[in-house]
Amino acid sequence: MDCIFCKIVAGEIPVVTVLDEDKVLAFMDINPASRGHMLVVPKNHAENIFEISEADLTAVMGAVKRCSGAVKEALGAEGITVLQLNGKASDQLVPHLHVHIMPRWEKDGMSVSQWQMGKGDIGELQEIARRVQEHLA
Ligand code: AMP
Ligand code: ZN
Repeated sequence: MDCIFCKIVAGEIPVVTVLDEDKVLAFMDINPASRGHMLVVPKNHAENIFEISEADLTAVMGAVKRCSGAVKEALGAEGITVLQLNGKASDQLVPHLHVHIMPRWEKDGMSVSQWQMGKGDIGELQEIARRVQEHLA
């Protein structure tokens, strides 16, 4: 399969590894958006959150928690942004699930969480929740 992150997992493309476990690899992002920016990926290929098994996602998120705490301590970060994109509409570039861990500092100028907020319509919120619940059932 022609997947860059599968090649990284297979050791065919070099990366700066942070954590190498049975189900999960964490490595430094090659184009960091902040100091200490790293990625956590499942070793089993899954394109996105819709495809990955809950067991693999659980392993990924466990590693995300540990790496977030470790990089926060290592670099004295004041906060951590955890970001995971699904699909082109969500700006996902690499089609192998990955979680970004981005150390943050007050006034670091990153705008990743500054989306436009709108006032919610309670009727519409209830209708959406009802429709989602139908699909959860
Ligand atoms: P996205 O799919 O938009 O969530 O972002 C993909 C991320 O993968 C970007 O932050 C890239 O800098 C990163 N990336 C792509 N290729 C490599 C690589 N060979 N080693 C490390 N990070 C990479
Ligand atoms: Zn892959």
